[in-house]
Amino acid sequence: MYLLACAQIGLKVRGFTWDVLLKPSISPKKLSKADITTLETTGSYCDLPYKGEGVKYGDKEDAKLFGMRVFQKYIEEADKQFQRVPVVRTKESLFDYLVDMNKIASGIQQLRESVEGGNDCSIRNLTNCKSFNRLCEYHPICSGYTDKNDTTVFQTRDSSGRGTGGPAKGSLSTSQMNLFMGCQRRWVYKYVEKIERAEEWTEALYFGDLVHKALEIILEDRLVDPIEFPNSID
Ligand code: SF4
Repeated sequence: MYLLACAQIGLKVRGFTWDVLLKPSISPKKLSKADITTLETTGSYCDLPYKGEGVKYGDKEDAKLFGMRVFQKYIEEADKQFQRVPVVRTKESLFDYLVDMNKIASGIQQLRESVEGGNDCSIRNLTNCKSFNRLCEYHPICSGYTDKNDTTVFQTRDSSGRGTGGPAKGSLSTSQMNLFMGCQRRWVYKYVEKIERAEEWTEALYFGDLVHKALEIILEDRLVDPIEFPNSID
């Protein structure tokens, strides 16, 4: 995309070096007693000085504390978390890319029109529900666990009180196109219906609840068809 943009403004750039920092696979956690003791005795968190006050056992990491833990992870696993990739493109490959982008953009436009016209013909891609060890945020809908109107799990972006972010109306970002190619249904939820996960809802909660429900089903089966224990042991 960058090389294409350069070509379009007349810059002869054949390649670039791409520094990639992986998205952290961790999320904010609750502070343990050991964390609080370390904070109070050393004034540091994750080996970095921390001047904040008022945090206590059971509090969730705020953005600063979480950032410090992410930073520590990057330092400790620098070879896994960081990659430098040289990217070179020929004129022909740029042209092919431009053709692909046009096809994807028209696919997006057609799908948007069909959904807005009340006919959602998006295709689900079940092979993409878990990637980079993360479950898709819409899995609770596709698994039949709940529906998109469940406000304990989902909120619409406008009702969250935050800005919609992203590119200007009518334009397409690379991440939007990648998401569309990964799973059309996910693209519809995110960009047309503007559904996002409620802030208090976490993947861990979801898994906990799923396990609970599975156990309930197994136990109900057992109650219908109970295990018979022998009266005596020979
Ligand atoms: S929206 Fe797509 S990727 Fe997400 S859970 Fe459903 S099928 Fe999977």
